[in-house]
Amino acid sequence: MQPEKFIKTVRDIYQSKDFIPLHEPRFSELDKKYVAKCIESKFVSSVGEFVNDVEDRLADYSQTAKAIAVVNGTAALQISLKAAGVDKGDEVLCQALTFVATTNSIIYNNASPVFIDVDLDTMGMSPKALGLWLNEFGEKRDEYCFNKKTGKRIAACLPMHTFGFMCRIEEIMTICQAWGIPVIEDAAEGLGSSLYGRPAGSWGLFGALSFNGNKIITAGGGGAILSNEKGLAKWAKHLTTTAKREHPYEFFHDEVGYNYRMPNLNAALLLAQLEQIDSFIDNKKKLYKTYQQTLTNEKFTLMVPPQNQIWNYWLMSVITHSKKERDYLLEVTNKNGVMTRPIWQLMFKLPMYAHCQRDDQVNAIHLEERIVNIPSNIGEMA
Ligand SMILES: *Cc1c(COP(=O)(O)O)cnc(C)c1O
Repeated sequence: MQPEKFIKTVRDIYQSKDFIPLHEPRFSELDKKYVAKCIESKFVSSVGEFVNDVEDRLADYSQTAKAIAVVNGTAALQISLKAAGVDKGDEVLCQALTFVATTNSIIYNNASPVFIDVDLDTMGMSPKALGLWLNEFGEKRDEYCFNKKTGKRIAACLPMHTFGFMCRIEEIMTICQAWGIPVIEDAAEGLGSSLYGRPAGSWGLFGALSFNGNKIITAGGGGAILSNEKGLAKWAKHLTTTAKREHPYEFFHDEVGYNYRMPNLNAALLLAQLEQIDSFIDNKKKLYKTYQQTLTNEKFTLMVPPQNQIWNYWLMSVITHSKKERDYLLEVTNKNGVMTRPIWQLMFKLPMYAHCQRDDQVNAIHLEERIVNIPSNIGEMA
């Protein structure tokens, strides 16, 4: 199929001649009700019941002991890394095929990224590439792992669940356990996805979620830290709430904390959104099925998540045969009001990460040149 026909197909599916966005948030009366309730309570900021409620519900939904609501997904990553022990001069293993926030969160901890290749099917960190890299550069000393090339400590591994596809997190956990490296999942795109029945963000020592406006559910802006380690989770919460010791009136802060707590107003919206997530996923699943039925005999193919996982259908994508075909598809669709986007430019192509150590990146480069995201809106509810 030519891009021109793809445009017609998308317009038919959405029954719209207007601009079709890539991923629009969806709001209902419930969202308005909770937000209004929050405003009426006057507790719109750093104190309020919606934050506690939404934290409990997120922990439940993600099958983790604790969820900590924060200002955005980037802050969730930053604090997760810090609470996992990442410190100045350390290194963190991550993928170059990701949104820049993953890598920035490492720098915010004065550590540096090392880029490990991804798998072609999951678009997430490849356990095979991880194992190969560790066998070549890893050195276990006492309980820590060091990079033989740089002498730096490898303080964490930060895989990402691309577009909600689960990466091979079970194998990554096994490898990292053997090397003494804590795993933090960038599950910013993964709420609602699971592997072998275990949700995104619940596998690692910490998992980070995002509720930005383009994610599967939104708080306007927001994020959450997930963890099964109650002690560490308590410290993470402390760090996100200015490290203030609990006291009826005194201000005592026992370390340099951060003002990263999610405001109650955002938590109100998030709670309403979380209550609707199942229907959002159902609707998106229907859209994906329609794409599956109509996008056949194409110059590109719809990306399909690998076995054993439940996908949240967050952002749908196709893979083209070449960069040239990718560019043509992007050009024609965007010119004609059907929004599509390429996958991110690889992190080592950005000036601030060009010097970072990396493996051959063959799969990441292959995907970067070919993947295009297509409209994945929740649409009208059935
Ligand atoms: C959205 C996203 C983030 C960051 O979330 P924000 O809430 O925008 O800070 C981090 N990593 C990935 C992979 C994301 O898609």
